[in-house]
Amino acid sequence: MSTYLVTGSNRGIGLTFVKSLLTRGDRVVATCRNRSKASDLTALQNEHPALEILELDVADAASLDSFPARLGDTAIDVFISNAGVYGPRGANFGNLSGADWEPVLLVNAVAPVLLTQLIMDNLRQGSDRKLIYITSKMGSIDDNGGGGQYVYRSSKAALNAAVKSLSIDLADDGFNVLLLHPGWVQTDMGGPSALIDTGTSVDGMLQLIDQLGPAQNGQFLAYDGKQIPW
Ligand code: NDP
Repeated sequence: MSTYLVTGSNRGIGLTFVKSLLTRGDRVVATCRNRSKASDLTALQNEHPALEILELDVADAASLDSFPARLGDTAIDVFISNAGVYGPRGANFGNLSGADWEPVLLVNAVAPVLLTQLIMDNLRQGSDRKLIYITSKMGSIDDNGGGGQYVYRSSKAALNAAVKSLSIDLADDGFNVLLLHPGWVQTDMGGPSALIDTGTSVDGMLQLIDQLGPAQNGQFLAYDGKQIPW
């Protein structure tokens, strides 16, 4: 049994991570922006006392900085940075604005690394030392055949670059780090035409997380284990 910290866990892929982990007997610290609106998450607590819910808005500096105090001295074995935003769908070359771009970069690229930095004591106390960052194939520069999507693509490419450094910098401390593309998943972000459901995505990613060791440290993989070009 391990303790997982999952961000953005009130809906979508994050919520399915929480459900799957609790079902198999792991402990979960699940974060959401607003606990009073996280009805699916709070309902899970009745069945699963191993679930702790903490508030965290990763775009809010005060919420981020005060998070270690809410987390206390809980040892975290596996950190899953899942919270993410797509940004404005109509933002294309010609009508891009810094005001649209900044919050997406903050949530998708900057906050995951700052949060890792803030909870380093909890991660060092954990025994698994696994750091998982949910990214996107749209962050692959090699795979970009379609153009457009400047805001989201660049935010995930920035996340990939930063997390690659983390995988190198923390290797001597025994941490193993993965960048995972969940597939095109039926969620609010992925939309109803997406190819797979959250269960298929999370089952695949949990298999990769369970098998994560030094040989996979720093890789960029899809939920089905396929390596994605940078
Ligand atoms: P959803 O839009 O369904 O859920 C996003 C989650 O992130 C919500 O819990 C949301 O909370 C949370 N979140 C957003 N902004 C913040 C913030 N400032 N602070 C804390 N939490 C926040 O998305 P998915 O479940 O589909 O996506 C999960 C991850 O997977 C994301 O990183 C996404 O980029 C990635 N991904 C998804 C794909 C897909 O096809 N669905 C494809 C590739 C990657 P709230 O409810 O409060 O808004």
